[in-house]
Amino acid sequence: MAFLKKISDFFTASGSSPTYWLYVQCDRCGEKIKVRVNLHNDLSIRYGERDEGDTYFCRKMVVGNQRCFQSIEVEMTFDRNKKLKDRQITGGQFISEEQFA
Ligand SMILES: [Zn+2]
Repeated sequence: MAFLKKISDFFTASGSSPTYWLYVQCDRCGEKIKVRVNLHNDLSIRYGERDEGDTYFCRKMVVGNQRCFQSIEVEMTFDRNKKLKDRQITGGQFISEEQFA
């Protein structure tokens, strides 16, 4: 039993690479785009001053698959636990996962 548990732990750990999914819609053509944010590789740390605490910052340029040259820029701030704190977008809109589907 212990052996089986180890195996499942292994799969759980490797299957849950820290990812934040972002859903945006292009202002120009209306294309809905799903963007993967890798919470390991895509974030850069910003050391907070005094009480503020450290945060993580991520900027993404989003380009759709359609022939639209609108560039969508997303900026996100995460807290020290890598929970989303704030996000801003230019060139598009944030949509929910339900709206994307
Ligand atoms: Zn577009």
